[in-house]
Amino acid sequence: MPDQERGPGDAALIDGKAIAAELRRHIADAAAALRRDHGLTPGLAAVLVGDDPASRVYVRSKGRACVAAGLASFEHRLSADATTAEVLDLVRRLDGDDRVDGILVQLPLPSQIDPNDVIAAIDPGKDVDGFHPVNVGRLWNGEPGLVPCTPQGCLILLRSVRPGLAGAEAVVLGRSKIVGRPIAALLLAADCSVTVAHSKSRDIAATCRRADILVAAVGRPGLVKGDWIKPGAAVIDVGINRIDTADGVRLVGDVDFAEARQVAGWITPVPGGVGPMTIACLLRNTVLAACRRRGLREPDQLRL
Ligand code: NAP
Repeated sequence: MPDQERGPGDAALIDGKAIAAELRRHIADAAAALRRDHGLTPGLAAVLVGDDPASRVYVRSKGRACVAAGLASFEHRLSADATTAEVLDLVRRLDGDDRVDGILVQLPLPSQIDPNDVIAAIDPGKDVDGFHPVNVGRLWNGEPGLVPCTPQGCLILLRSVRPGLAGAEAVVLGRSKIVGRPIAALLLAADCSVTVAHSKSRDIAATCRRADILVAAVGRPGLVKGDWIKPGAAVIDVGINRIDTADGVRLVGDVDFAEARQVAGWITPVPGGVGPMTIACLLRNTVLAACRRRGLREPDQLRL
């Protein structure tokens, strides 16, 4: 529905689960076509250092998602006391392995390893997380590259409800390297006027109230209140916060959902909004990397 038709008090939910499922179907179709036409199976290698339980779960679910979409999945584990040299050695081997189109080093890494050194060792053409300085530079320059997955997912969700973003006033809460900054760069590339606010910003409520598009990525449960939101705005809630309730642990976002829903035009729920998009975009990046490395045309289904 065009934005001018949505009024306050009836925010529509942006269904990230459904949009991610559709994207995964497109990825599976694209992978099947690459296999049929070029004998190519795009492959994603995940590197897990140590045994952080949450990281293990993420890596496993990424592997399963790959296989479900018809991509090859490789998992490499190193012990928690691995040295930087060992991790760099593995990354360089994966850089040179033609079966591997995407390399993902699961963060956080144990404290003895500098993540910047490891990210810099990844071939930028295989950097499916989009964290390599070359891809960061391309993103800010508005040039084609590999775009970080969660920000990419946010843009897809936004475009599903507001195809025309040019001229919109966008406010991004949070300036992390993996979420806030790349989202700001994507919105700028989409011709929005972008403000980035963070923990040192003054009167963020007033800043947010100007936003046609509000992206919250702060990791503070329910920080954004209903009266911070411009009536009819599109609100993308990236936050995933675990809070204890009488009924056990619950996941909530950075936006007070019950209040925001009364004011916004569109809003992403937590869970079921941005979350499901991240892995779908990782698979998309892997297929794009596989095509670009070989000079093949990018599948039409994966154009944004
Ligand atoms: P982060 O690295 O901790 O960054 C948080 C950002 O928020 C920082 O820039 C910080 O400002 C700012 N901030 C913190 N408190 C603030 C406040 N009261 N007012 C204004 N700004 C404030 O977090 P992140 O990695 O970007 O993640 C943000 C949230 O997104 C987390 O809940 C995380 O779990 C979630 N997340 C979700 C996905 C997904 O797939 N859906 C993926 C990644 C992250 P300073 O820079 O000044 O410290």
